[in-house]
Amino acid sequence: MIGRWRSSALEKNKVKVRRKLREPRFCFQTRSDVDVLDDGYKWRKYGQKVVKNSLHPRSYYRCTHNNCRVKKRVERLSEDCRMVITTYEGRHNHSPCDDSNSSENDGFTSF
Ligand SMILES: [Zn+2]
Repeated sequence: MIGRWRSSALEKNKVKVRRKLREPRFCFQTRSDVDVLDDGYKWRKYGQKVVKNSLHPRSYYRCTHNNCRVKKRVERLSEDCRMVITTYEGRHNHSPCDDSNSSENDGFTSF
């Protein structure tokens, strides 16, 4: 057996993300100029809150769909105001972009 140089690449610097299984929340950061990112859904602002230690207020949005209770929280990072933190709470029970002018209105399938 011919000896080989082993490259001991044991760099494990990956940060483990803690999972919270209590509520279906999705939080991500995006570098954006606009607060509300276009995600296909329509949102209505229903609240605003002043955040301590931050120059930017936190905005609360709600899905405009009738039977949908998904909420969205938008705030800017205090260290970098170009970063937008978006937090979704809940899941949509409908598909996005269903507010378009479609002439097909067959009615809802009720069961
Ligand atoms: Zn929705």
